[in-house]
Amino acid sequence: RAKASMQERICLFEDYMQAEFDDRQELEHDLRLAVERDEFELVYQKQVEVMSLNVHGVEALVRWNHPTRGQISPAAFIPIAEELGIIVELGEVILRRACIEATKWTKPIKIAVNLSPIQLQAPGIVGTVLEILNETGLDPARLELEITETVVLNDRNGVVDILNDLRALGVTIAIDDFGTGYSSLAVLRDIPFDTIKLDKAFVRDIAVSPEAEALVKLVIDVGNHLGRTVIIEGIETEAQHQCIRRMGCQVSQGFYFARPVKASMLDFLHVA
Ligand code: C2E
Ligand code: MG
Ligand code: MG
Ligand code: MG
Repeated sequence: RAKASMQERICLFEDYMQAEFDDRQELEHDLRLAVERDEFELVYQKQVEVMSLNVHGVEALVRWNHPTRGQISPAAFIPIAEELGIIVELGEVILRRACIEATKWTKPIKIAVNLSPIQLQAPGIVGTVLEILNETGLDPARLELEITETVVLNDRNGVVDILNDLRALGVTIAIDDFGTGYSSLAVLRDIPFDTIKLDKAFVRDIAVSPEAEALVKLVIDVGNHLGRTVIIEGIETEAQHQCIRRMGCQVSQGFYFARPVKASMLDFLHVA
């Protein structure tokens, strides 16, 4: 009897594995189609100057409007797009769309766009960015490209060359999710960048933990000493906001200020 139930469990497990596999196959299939059918949408999250609360810029964040599953978050489909190699094409679509939309805005604010490490290291990335800037007429100084620390895990020299070439176009580079990699200090030393975006994991406890506060302060001070912009991500409460304000943080991004919204919902773009 015990044996039968074990057999049963194995069958259930196999069914489960098969279902997971089918689901993933379907999602991969849909994702390939989604690029052709243009099922992606950009939402924008405001970045604010901490002292004045004036808008500093926005970050473009992609959403997939799946025909039957509804809206799918980038955390769920970007890794699949990376595995399938679709990310290069998708990333180009996203960058072009972000630049086109930004040129229509009534204020010439900065727009930050995330680049996948695969996209950054794909041949021709510098040419692609240049082409999109020329095509759309966006002032390069308004474009910030967000990369993560993981890009430098292999081929550090190659990445440095690419980043220098990108900056020569006039765009700026942000290191996103800073502090979550294993070589953050080396990255600050070796990588050409303009902005540090401290990962939200460091911010969660700042208002209640002196250790957390000390770490955030350290990053703000390093950024300020280097003359770079520091953006603190993941501010959700008034207490956290007051805390980073005291620490001399210039720019911040979080649900406390604004959720990501469609461009048409960006309040500061409407003429008062
Ligand atoms: P990210 O680049 O670090 O973007 C910030 C993420 O944190 C966004 O999630 C945003 O909605 C969320 N967030 C902002 N403020 C808060 C807050 O106060 N609390 C909390 N808990 N979360 C906050 P989202 O839009 O789901 O994006 C997740 C990740 O997906 C992004 O992290 C980025 O790595 C990736 N991603 C998004 N759009 C793109 C894209 O166009 N291309 C690429 N390659 N990756 C993208
Ligand atoms: Mg980002
Ligand atoms: Mg990220
Ligand atoms: Mg981030």
